[in-house]
Amino acid sequence: MPILLGGPSIALFTFRNEQLRVANEQLQTLATYDWMTSCLNRGAFTHKVTRILETTTLSAALLVVDVDHFKSINDNHGHDRGDDALRLIAGTLRETMGDRALVGRLGGEEFGIFLTSISPADLARIAERLRAAVARLAFVTDGVGCPLSISIGGTIVRGKSDFRALYRLADMQLYEAKAAGRDRVSLIEAA
Ligand code: GH3
Ligand code: MG
Ligand code: MG
Repeated sequence: MPILLGGPSIALFTFRNEQLRVANEQLQTLATYDWMTSCLNRGAFTHKVTRILETTTLSAALLVVDVDHFKSINDNHGHDRGDDALRLIAGTLRETMGDRALVGRLGGEEFGIFLTSISPADLARIAERLRAAVARLAFVTDGVGCPLSISIGGTIVRGKSDFRALYRLADMQLYEAKAAGRDRVSLIEAA
């Protein structure tokens, strides 16, 4: 009898196992990615950056990207079109970076980009490429072109650091970029 039951029981067990594996994978994805933009969510991004900073001896850089005058897109075209704009910008950031960086949504219309083993000159080039890619986007809503732009603050460090320290410096530079007129990049080398 056990021999007769063996085949179907094993098949059922394998099927259930596969279902569990898929469910686990889906849970893992939900816990790691921001559902709206498909970027890493804040928790996963900061966790991964922290883990890398604990071990790396390479240079490390953090860019904080904030959409300019985003509230006016919501106000003028509605929250759903605002969401569309965020998805478009997030996709552009990810495509521009490829495998080169971690890209996370830190909250609202703010994103973080983390890279290692990079020179200050290359960081400046990459940040400028990101800014230009978003400025080039043709976002049309209600039949009207709606210009998009981002401001970027960033910092690069060579020695030991942690996420909070990097974020604080990058955020200060973001403030500088906003104050200087938006649609621009401001970077600083950490001591
Ligand atoms: P600034 O150039 O100074 O950054 O101006 P801003 O309008 O982008 O900044 P502010 O902080 O005044 O407004 C951010 C807006 O982003 C307000 C908030 O309603 C909106 N927002 C945050 N998260 C989302 C989201 O998930 N979807 C949409 N549609 N809007 C969001
Ligand atoms: Mg903003
Ligand atoms: Mg903001």
